[in-house]
Amino acid sequence: MYRIPKEEEVRQAIFKAFRKHNSFSSLNKLREAIIEELKKMNKEYTISMRRTRILTARAGFVKVDVKKKHGRKKFDRCPVCDGKLREIRNLSLLGKETVIGYKCEVCKYKSKINEVPVRYTFYLTK
Ligand SMILES: [Zn+2]
Repeated sequence: MYRIPKEEEVRQAIFKAFRKHNSFSSLNKLREAIIEELKKMNKEYTISMRRTRILTARAGFVKVDVKKKHGRKKFDRCPVCDGKLREIRNLSLLGKETVIGYKCEVCKYKSKINEVPVRYTFYLTK
């Protein structure tokens, strides 16, 4: 059986994991370290990759570096923190407005229109 930890418990686990390791070179490694901390609170606790990424990006003491590659996927929400994305527009030579990229209003993630994230690196900032 699995149980879903409360947001406050996840934040504690994130903090402990970062105090121990300082940085993580992938989302998978970060998730494993967080699960290790969560299991000390309750053996049945687990967390999804998506929730790990979003809560860590919003923790306030973690910087997320995103490696991107060429890709066509369109994002409605920020692929780092699930925040609202704002379109970056540019005027073409003919005076037409075109969308050239996106910027997150929450975590400041920025990408061009034809980029997708392939790897996340996490750093403790304080
Ligand atoms: Zn974001």
